[in-house]
Amino acid sequence: MVTWHLNRWSPDTCGCKFEYQWDEELAVRDRVSVWKENLRTCPDHMGLTDANLYDVVLGENQRKNITIVRIETEVPDLKETYTDPETGEPNRIRYKWQHGIDWSFSGSDDTRLLTMVIRGSVVSSSERTRINNLLRTEFGTNKVTIT
Ligand SMILES: [Zn+2]
Repeated sequence: MVTWHLNRWSPDTCGCKFEYQWDEELAVRDRVSVWKENLRTCPDHMGLTDANLYDVVLGENQRKNITIVRIETEVPDLKETYTDPETGEPNRIRYKWQHGIDWSFSGSDDTRLLTMVIRGSVVSSSERTRINNLLRTEFGTNKVTIT
């Protein structure tokens, strides 16, 4: 027995919109989201076929999310721990003052380049080169750049 649960997804990386579904009968850890329908194609992805739109957009979104994690791991000095002044909860994590990561995409269809900007001057040019090389190894050429 399969009970499909429908959901909609608009990524924060472009204006496309999709409907996807998963089987509610399965345990949460076994659920797999399955693409169902393209609801809207954004101007950046007009050159793609309906069949590969979802995979390309999902890939871009995951590339952005993974890259942020990689940068935060490689540049631990971006963040600090603090105690929440209202709840008193200790060891919360936030970006340090004037630090953070900005991102944007350029290009179109399946050749969009993700550009990351690390705010603040915590990353030397040799560190930047090292992280760019890590990301090139992970995603391939012309996929991610840190400026
Ligand atoms: Zn799109």
